Amino acid sequence: KTYTQDEIRSLVKSEHVEFLRLMFTDLMGSIKNVEVPTSQLDKLLDNKLMFDGSSIDGFVRIEESDMYLIPDLSTWMVFPWGSEHGRVARLICEVYTADGKPFTGDPRNNLIRLMGEMKEAGFTSFNIGPEPEFFLFKMDENGDPTLKLNDKGSYFDLAPMDLGENCRRDIVLEMEKMGFEVEAAHHEVAPGQHEIDFKYADALEAADNIQTFKLVVKTIARQYGLFATFMPKPLEGINGSGMHLNMSLSTAEGNAFYDPKGELELSETAYHFLGGLLSHARSFTAIVNPLVNSYKRLVPGFEAPVYVAWSGSNRSPLVRVPNARGNSTRLEIRSVDPAANPYLAIAAVLEAGLDGIRNKITPEDSVDRNIYVMDEGEREENHISNLPDNLHNATKALQADPVMKAALGDHLYQSFVEAKRLEWASYRQSVTKWERDQYLEQY
Ligand code: GLN
Ligand code: MG
Ligand code: MG
Ligand code: MG
Repeated sequence: KTYTQDEIRSLVKSEHVEFLRLMFTDLMGSIKNVEVPTSQLDKLLDNKLMFDGSSIDGFVRIEESDMYLIPDLSTWMVFPWGSEHGRVARLICEVYTADGKPFTGDPRNNLIRLMGEMKEAGFTSFNIGPEPEFFLFKMDENGDPTLKLNDKGSYFDLAPMDLGENCRRDIVLEMEKMGFEVEAAHHEVAPGQHEIDFKYADALEAADNIQTFKLVVKTIARQYGLFATFMPKPLEGINGSGMHLNMSLSTAEGNAFYDPKGELELSETAYHFLGGLLSHARSFTAIVNPLVNSYKRLVPGFEAPVYVAWSGSNRSPLVRVPNARGNSTRLEIRSVDPAANPYLAIAAVLEAGLDGIRNKITPEDSVDRNIYVMDEGEREENHISNLPDNLHNATKALQADPVMKAALGDHLYQSFVEAKRLEWASYRQSVTKWERDQYLEQY
């Protein structure tokens, strides 16, 4: 819903809001907050609220650091948890430069730009239904996270095995108070692991929702003495956390992926989108799996994808076509993890799919058997390639693909690649416990 300035002014009064939390997202996907008292409301609505962009990761150098926060009034949301000093409302902002232009280093602005491209291609929305997973760990007496899980539950288990259940239920209730429609919440396969799925929304709103969701999860978990993490693979030997994205494009006529006469009842558009996704999958991996740690999840045996393939039925491939048809027709990409910056991740899969549509890329045939039992030769025969196996190779694949460069735009692309190279360089120099365990005494 979009609000006028006057509506926002009266909402501030009627909801007794004392503080405005102005949110935006940096390059790495961290939420940044500038909190101002409501006395600053007029200044904010006049687009005169300034901040120093040089202290934000991936933004600008000191010489050009004055930036403006332009609130997106449709993102007005009052946080249900109060403080004794009055209620807090959030507004998600677009970052503008001092000369009044959308800042191209702002991941959210970039997604807005791509949504424009999508409209030019004839679509009205890019629907995203995310399935974020996370772990709940116990905190110690200092409030620091431990590696102690808070339950021994497993997939779809119920209490009393699932001690995180009350916490998860509270998260869902808070989200509902904030206007989210939660479709499912359940314990995941690993102990201490949970998933909450919320209703699909158009790309920009979906990315905003993911960011707000993370904030709610972390805040409520703390109230239970638990620490929530979206780190992709916090513990070795058990499943990691993914964030599958269910995707479809709409036109004025409805779901553009549905065609009752098409093969598997999928439209040509759906196949071309899929073709684009698969052909750019290796190069957008760095964006949707952005951490050194992300690649410890993308290994065989833990329900995370390793190979570039799609299927209409089984779950091992990178892209799956869930059963629903009609308006719910969609593609599910399973590599994405919750550490990804949602604005960049959604931009990447959208641009990959649009490229498939523009160039009529036909996907390889579906692979409807378990890829994990095939040997390398069989995979080769079926034209199945591997996802990059570490951040270094993923960054190289990203650098080789001009379509992904276009998806991020110059500023974001340069800073992203630079940051990932530094991250890898630092990791490469670290000496791990694994190495000492293996080598210290033997050599
Ligand atoms: N946790 C798995 C992953 O890493 C997914 C498990 C599931 O949702 N079935 O993607
Ligand atoms: Mg799921
Ligand atoms: Mg899951
Ligand atoms: Mg799923």
